[in-house]
Amino acid sequence: MVSVREADEIIAQVPAVLSVKSVLLREATGCVLAEEIRADRDIPPYDRVAMDGFAIDSGAYAAGKSFRIAGIQPAGSEPLLLASPNDCIEVMTGALLPNGTNTVIRYEDGEVAEGYFRPHPELQVMPYVNIHRKGTDARRDDVLLSPGTFISPAEAAILASVGKATVSVYELPRAVVISTGDELVPVDAHPQPHQIRQSNTYALQAAMHALNWKAEAVHIKDDDQELRKRLAQFLNDFDVLILTGGVSKGKFDYLPRVLEDLGVKKLFHQVAQKPGKPFWFGMSNSGKVVFALPGNPVSTYLCFYRYIRPWILRSLHIPIPLVEAELTEEVIFKPTLTYFLQAEVYLSRGKVWARPVAGHGSGDFVNLKNVNAFVELPADQTVFPAGKTFPIITFRPLF
Ligand code: AMP
Ligand code: MG
Repeated sequence: MVSVREADEIIAQVPAVLSVKSVLLREATGCVLAEEIRADRDIPPYDRVAMDGFAIDSGAYAAGKSFRIAGIQPAGSEPLLLASPNDCIEVMTGALLPNGTNTVIRYEDGEVAEGYFRPHPELQVMPYVNIHRKGTDARRDDVLLSPGTFISPAEAAILASVGKATVSVYELPRAVVISTGDELVPVDAHPQPHQIRQSNTYALQAAMHALNWKAEAVHIKDDDQELRKRLAQFLNDFDVLILTGGVSKGKFDYLPRVLEDLGVKKLFHQVAQKPGKPFWFGMSNSGKVVFALPGNPVSTYLCFYRYIRPWILRSLHIPIPLVEAELTEEVIFKPTLTYFLQAEVYLSRGKVWARPVAGHGSGDFVNLKNVNAFVELPADQTVFPAGKTFPIITFRPLF
């Protein structure tokens, strides 16, 4: 048996195989950038009118003076030229600043009468007001985004602005999610009294989906020969196998033996934690990674969010912030195991709080709907006082 920290260290040493693929920009949100993005021109690329109004030469301004409206400059046309400093040009937001002008006065800061615009006499007129100047946000060739950047809506806009119709992003390892167990039937089956519907692969696939990580899901019976045959094939076809069930001490928990016989070296079996103690982890000679998670639904769930998700994020160089929450009430846990307590975590009065909602053990997946995090309570303590702060693993947005 290893500690949680040892399990972390062992998993961290096993690399996740990433490749690079090209995706359409419209499908890139949620992916991680695999190329450097530079500005192909200054941003903004020209002195951009930032308000609807009139452009003048500020040097020609005097309080009370009226300017003849000599033309109109819409967004998307080539710039007009101010022929006389006594003229002004009506300008629209997004237009190029007309040549010969250097400031924009908003409609609401003056009056229009008989073809003339008269700024309010008390107005302070200065150069480059209401103008978003060329190159102020970025210069041509500036690095805008680096490889490893998570593409959120803001990055999507930046990529579009520099003409990236397709983008290079990291592709996560080819993965298969495998449930095991003779009691499990498909979701659309009518279970007999001694059967239950298989739910773990749905939770796992959904959790992976949130990482943009696609996986196939299959089911295998607790049958030694069947397991050998199918797992040999999956080890050939996929980079990562995520198994659930069949790793405990039961008579029909064949997986540890079968995996080792198939050449997957055990890197640990059993972690000093609750839930999820029977967790098995290994790697084959050819670098195929196997996470064999205990079948109890809360154990599977915890192990994914505590170990597999961070493994993937780290391989993408996405920083994982350490978030801590303050217990709202005392918790007592006697075994010398790290206890992953289910909790409702919330923000209040500038702090993150964790209200324990323990549930009925690792089989009680219904309780997961009441909580949004696990609080990680260390193995070497028994009493966890109210008001003390501990790390949390969240699996829903907090707000
Ligand atoms: P095991 O780890 O195979 O001993 O399974 C532990 C418990 O989790 C048993 O009660 C199983 O029925 C349940 N279980 C295992 N796999 C799944 C699954 N895919 N969906 C729902 N429950 C499961
Ligand atoms: Mg089983």
